[in-house]
Amino acid sequence: MAEQQPGPASDGTWQDLGGGSFVLASSAARALVNIGLVVGRERALLVDTGCGPRHATEILAAVRALTALPLLVVNTHAHWDHFFGNAAFRDAGTTTIWAHAAAARAMERTGESQRAEVAGVEPDMAAGRGPGTEIVLPTHLVQEVPVVLDLGGTVVELFTLGRGHTDGDLMVGAPGVLFAGDVLEEGAEPQFEDAHPQEWAAVLRRLGTMAARYPVMVPGHGRPVDAAFAAALAPVVQAHS
Ligand SMILES: [Zn+2]
Repeated sequence: MAEQQPGPASDGTWQDLGGGSFVLASSAARALVNIGLVVGRERALLVDTGCGPRHATEILAAVRALTALPLLVVNTHAHWDHFFGNAAFRDAGTTTIWAHAAAARAMERTGESQRAEVAGVEPDMAAGRGPGTEIVLPTHLVQEVPVVLDLGGTVVELFTLGRGHTDGDLMVGAPGVLFAGDVLEEGAEPQFEDAHPQEWAAVLRRLGTMAARYPVMVPGHGRPVDAAFAAALAPVVQAHS
């Protein structure tokens, strides 16, 4: 299916993935984390919030250039580039932040110590000083049972396939598009800091069987990929166990 993949995303521009899903590739200075957006008729769902208030403000401006709908937020996992923007989105009026229950626990446990990671790009966040710099935890938790969200004509499923990149990886399944967080990495090596490689490889093999439901898979970093890419990543991750 490689020939059907969308082209590379450009900085600061939404790439339309079809079915109401978009991905925003952010600047290299901010670790090229992919921010996802699924737009329904009544609500929109943001996938990950960036590295801190500066980044989140840029993301919010990009969201508002596309839609004025009320915004729900999902954090794919508990790493700083995926949830340090939570406070800025809460302060902008978002009242619902979804995450895996284990990710929420990890954010609570490690959030303060992760601030050092953003010293170069988000100095206020690193210092924990100023608006939008609070560690804001998810308000809504996903356990083993998938959660179905109706955005108004567009249904999104939040689910876990088990431990992998972290112990709290959450998948965001939109029509034809899966946002996989850092369970998938394109253009960079997978990161094993909090990983469970054996189980991660099993998750990747599961993703490898989901081509029919999700022809497009959005990694946490890099260009959109597909199920064959996920399957090919499994032995690479397995080799770390
Ligand atoms: Zn990560």
